[in-house]
Amino acid sequence: MKNEMEGNQMCSPCIVSTINPCAFQQQYHIYDLSYQLDENTILWPTIDAFSLCMSCFHSDEHQFDYAVGTIRVSEHAGTHVDAPFHFKKDGITVEKLQLAQLIRKCRVIDIESHCSQQRDYLLRSEDIWAYENTFGQLEENDIVLVRTGWSRNYLNGAKSYLGYDKTTDGPFDPAKTPLSFPGIGKEAAELFVSRKIAAVGIDTGN
Ligand SMILES: [Zn+2]
Repeated sequence: MKNEMEGNQMCSPCIVSTINPCAFQQQYHIYDLSYQLDENTILWPTIDAFSLCMSCFHSDEHQFDYAVGTIRVSEHAGTHVDAPFHFKKDGITVEKLQLAQLIRKCRVIDIESHCSQQRDYLLRSEDIWAYENTFGQLEENDIVLVRTGWSRNYLNGAKSYLGYDKTTDGPFDPAKTPLSFPGIGKEAAELFVSRKIAAVGIDTGN
């Protein structure tokens, strides 16, 4: 199968992954953490709004219904995956990410208590070490989710979630209207790299 695809240059790129079946021999839970994509989706201030154009009709003559929608949306809207290419011009693009790389043991580092006190709190190395002291050191190819609790602000609108809302703050100017929400500090990010984790997720704008 793999060789057939590689030999066919007209074929779209396909993900060919090898997932260790041992990973599925134990009970596990699947959580859908996705936000709904619609006109209320909170977007990064510099990207275009989401749009869905539906075309629906019924044919009396042929007795059938037909519906087709056209979606226009930034790849960075709502819940999404960022590939290394997003911030590294020679990094791989999202379709080249191995599916198996996104199905890993999940570690959740909870910093909600800090973020509730300081809305632009950045994850520190000390937070990671504190987590590891309790739950064990992060291992190569773990996936880390940084839980800031910020997702609860999402339903309150862009001002609450991003610190900026164009309807009240006017045109976006980073110098005058800086965004404000929790994130990951540089030293913490470097610690993740040294631990060789597979991916990082966070419940804030990104
Ligand atoms: Zn993104």
